[in-house]
Amino acid sequence: MKKYNKTITDDQQFKRLIAYLSADRDEHRFDVVVNIDDQILVIGDWNEYSDLGSFINQFENSHNIVIGFDDEFIMCDECYKYLNHVSYPSDDFVWSSDCTIICGECAKKDSSDVIENLMNQNDKAFPEFMDTTDLINAGFKCCEHCEGKMAGMHTGMNDTPQNTIDSFCENNDLDHIENEYDYIFVIEGSNPFMVQYSLYVRKYE
Ligand SMILES: [Zn+2]
Repeated sequence: MKKYNKTITDDQQFKRLIAYLSADRDEHRFDVVVNIDDQILVIGDWNEYSDLGSFINQFENSHNIVIGFDDEFIMCDECYKYLNHVSYPSDDFVWSSDCTIICGECAKKDSSDVIENLMNQNDKAFPEFMDTTDLINAGFKCCEHCEGKMAGMHTGMNDTPQNTIDSFCENNDLDHIENEYDYIFVIEGSNPFMVQYSLYVRKYE
């Protein structure tokens, strides 16, 4: 009788794993996607397949593969990169004006849409990862007395977008900021307990 003493190499095992994950089955489905830097991202519901998840994790260093939950990742509508929006800090992304999701890299390439989408609103802000030089180039400037504002859970962090606007109006003798200025809030720092922000304004021509 012929004896088989074949050792399966790491590479062969990995190829089988990818074939298994990529196969279409009724009982479950994984999405195997190639992300930036050739990282192989396997998205699925790992609560039910934790053993398989542990098996995959052993290839993380040798084959650049990682697992993610299906509700943890979103795709950039420009470059199709997958972003983790749940971890802290999460990957950088913004919503564009047509409600698509744009990763930080793509948003930085053309900030005009981002600015348009965020200005004149109290519940949105120019994110920390963007470059405020883009705002200055678009005609905005940081207001005196309206920088380094803090909203958070520690004592004294009581600023709000509305009271920041109110104090700007008071200092500039305005009834309503919209009468003379476009404005945009800019996040300068954040952690799970606080946000530091400033107000930038642009006077109408
Ligand atoms: Zn992108």
